[in-house]
Amino acid sequence: MKSKAEVVIIGGGITGCGVAYNLAKKGLTDVVLVEKNYLASGATGRCGGGIRQQFTTEWNIKLAMESVKKFEKMNEELGIDIEYEQGGYLIIAVEENEVKEFKKNVKLQNKLGLDSKFISPSEAKEIVPYLNEEDILGATFCQSDGHAYPFRVVEGYAKRAEEMGVEINRFTEVKSIKKENGEIKSVMTNRGEIKTNIVVNAAGGYSREIGKMVGVKMPNKPFRHEILATERYKHILDPMIISFKYGIYFSQQRHGEIVGGIGDPDEPSSYNTKSSLKFVERFTSVLGKILPAFKNLNIVRQWAGFYDVTPDAQPILGYTEGVDTLIQANGYSGHGFMVAPKVTELIAELIVDGKTSLPIDELNLKRFEGETVGEAYVVG
Ligand SMILES: Cc1cc2nc3c(=O)[nH]c(=O)nc-3n(C[C@H](O)[C@H](O)[C@H](O)COP(=O)(O)OP(=O)(O)OC[C@H]3O[C@@H](n4cnc5c(N)ncnc54)[C@H](O)[C@@H]3O)c2cc1C
Repeated sequence: MKSKAEVVIIGGGITGCGVAYNLAKKGLTDVVLVEKNYLASGATGRCGGGIRQQFTTEWNIKLAMESVKKFEKMNEELGIDIEYEQGGYLIIAVEENEVKEFKKNVKLQNKLGLDSKFISPSEAKEIVPYLNEEDILGATFCQSDGHAYPFRVVEGYAKRAEEMGVEINRFTEVKSIKKENGEIKSVMTNRGEIKTNIVVNAAGGYSREIGKMVGVKMPNKPFRHEILATERYKHILDPMIISFKYGIYFSQQRHGEIVGGIGDPDEPSSYNTKSSLKFVERFTSVLGKILPAFKNLNIVRQWAGFYDVTPDAQPILGYTEGVDTLIQANGYSGHGFMVAPKVTELIAELIVDGKTSLPIDELNLKRFEGETVGEAYVVG
């Protein structure tokens, strides 16, 4: 392991590997990435792989739209099949107030150039013929939303970054960060010290712990989210389906399995990643209601990971006041996979050029000193 680097990246999920790739692409290869486990062992390898642009804040919409442009070219750029499908996202409204809200959301999305639309239950049924449309009052749909395979994306970024000269250290845990007069001097790991001035905090649900290492208080908190995969079934579902009311999301993958999860409003913040029967019962009962054909599918696997949630459900990006060369790239609040391609490019621009092609000041950690208005829904 190198004992000195211009930049040290903490975390080997899509963010860390994406930043490593984008830095190398811009010519900065004196970079060391440290991951305490295997690559994609955090939220990235546990996520649903959903890529949606239908958000309620301008920032989330913009970051997702810019990221979709990158996902569309990723197979070619990274030289790996990321199993990207643009089958759309169908967001169903099951309550009257959602209809009004959804129409407002579509207006904002359309203003920013997104091709989303509000549709009737029968139009939703045309898109998903097996949908139980009786319980829905309408839906929003965006064809260019979709999903991809998270492990492949991470593998692609990591491989290309390594080929360009970045050093990636698996099973290497950051234990502390040395700082003098507000300046970072080195990162201490279980395998030794790496001298550096610039650290990227891409530690997902553990980002607040990295902040603590340099005396920086961060507002993001980890929340367990459970997820499962079923046996394979004939292909009957193109879009990812979500309901904000139920907190559910699910999609059918390329090989036929259904992957999905459901949020639990009573889940406390913790580092618990155990699986529960309660989750399976809640997920399957709502799944069967929305798409009865999936009611009797066998579940083959269930697991859990963290949503790294901020008070406004938008990411924390950029410099850290007081410890300027600690660069934040975390706090995605359950939708980091889909925005990471653009976020990681912006972080690389910030480090190499000192400025970004999209100004990200509004997403700085500093915003939490005041009042924040945020994303309305924290689901897939
Ligand atoms: C069940 C579930 C479903 C989800 N579904 C979606 C979805 O459909 N679409 C979407 O966009 N997002 C989804 N998300 C959110 C998404 O997974 C995350 O926002 C995204 O993966 C964050 O990536 P990351 O690289 O920032 O963090 P992570 O993937 O969590 O990576 C952080 C890494 O840092 C490492 N680390 C932590 N501390 C240290 C240390 N001290 N030293 C070294 N390494 C350290 C961890 O081991 C980890 O591998 C989901 C999340 C979950 C849990």
